[in-house]
Amino acid sequence: MAAEDAGRPALLDMTPGEIAEAIAPLGQPAYRAAQVYSWLCRGVGFTGMTNLPLALRETLETSFRTGLAVIAERRDSRRDDTRKYLFALDDGERVEGVRMTYRHGHTLCISTQVGCRMGCAFCASTLGGRVRDLTAGEMLAQIIAANGDLGGQRIGNVVMMGSGEPLDNYAASIAFLRRVRLPEGLGIGLRSVSLSTCGLVPEMRALATEGLPVTLSVSLHAPDDETRRRIMPIARRYAIGEVVDAARHYVERTGRRVIFEYALIRDVNDRPEQASRLAGLLRGMQCHVNLITLSGVPETGLLAARRERAAEFERELVRRGVSVTRRRQMGSDIEGACGQLRRRSGGKE
Ligand code: SF4
Repeated sequence: MAAEDAGRPALLDMTPGEIAEAIAPLGQPAYRAAQVYSWLCRGVGFTGMTNLPLALRETLETSFRTGLAVIAERRDSRRDDTRKYLFALDDGERVEGVRMTYRHGHTLCISTQVGCRMGCAFCASTLGGRVRDLTAGEMLAQIIAANGDLGGQRIGNVVMMGSGEPLDNYAASIAFLRRVRLPEGLGIGLRSVSLSTCGLVPEMRALATEGLPVTLSVSLHAPDDETRRRIMPIARRYAIGEVVDAARHYVERTGRRVIFEYALIRDVNDRPEQASRLAGLLRGMQCHVNLITLSGVPETGLLAARRERAAEFERELVRRGVSVTRRRQMGSDIEGACGQLRRRSGGKE
């Protein structure tokens, strides 16, 4: 995209109401906005919006950008039904997404920032820091591009778990959640959307008051402050007790159970006594623990827990009455951990 184009407003960053206001000076009736929005959410550019008058399509073309993303690269896993995308944005930045196909449908993991400043030790997304926040439209654009790659099927579930910390880009993430469910757009109900955070306590508490029934997923990865500080710098700002309290508050306010993500890292957080401590921390909470086998990021020097250790950890949680599943990281042969593909491609176009 030419530099002057990047300066035009992107219609995908607007709600249907805002599009109506934007095109009103062009003498257009309000229903045109719904038509434009519906085309955009189907991935159609201005020239393909065939139920609009030709003159309007030409004016839109010169006054606005669509804000749609382009799939710059795709990679399929040979081990499971996972496809990794590199999406190119209008300013040349690139972000990753991962499509996972299950029996019940397709799930897309989307990015919310270019890079990330949270510094988690096991994550490739953060190695170059945060480059910029994504807009709500750029989050929607990843789903639209993935739908276009599905040949008539659609993404049914979304996880905000790619590069970036969604709650560090709070306003855009909330705008995305309000818009992803619009029936005239993508129509994805919020019960099919998960938002993952490394534990930004004030924003977790704020999210609980937004009236958005999204599943909150908290990256815990340790049962105590000392271990957590070794692998997650955010633990120096918020103690683990505050994070778990904010999660309890979320459950109380929304009635939704919280998911805790726990990546098992060899000799760091995988001991049975750490499993007991985790069970104690979560006692009585309506929650579920996802144990993940760490996907190796060569730059981090951290290793996945051994299989017997991981099984032992899981058994201890089950014994203590914690709802838990253990899964391997999908797409581990396609640089499945977030940030790896973008780094290998060199980031910006
Ligand atoms: S795991 Fe998430 S929050 Fe942590 S550095 Fe990576 S992208 Fe950021």
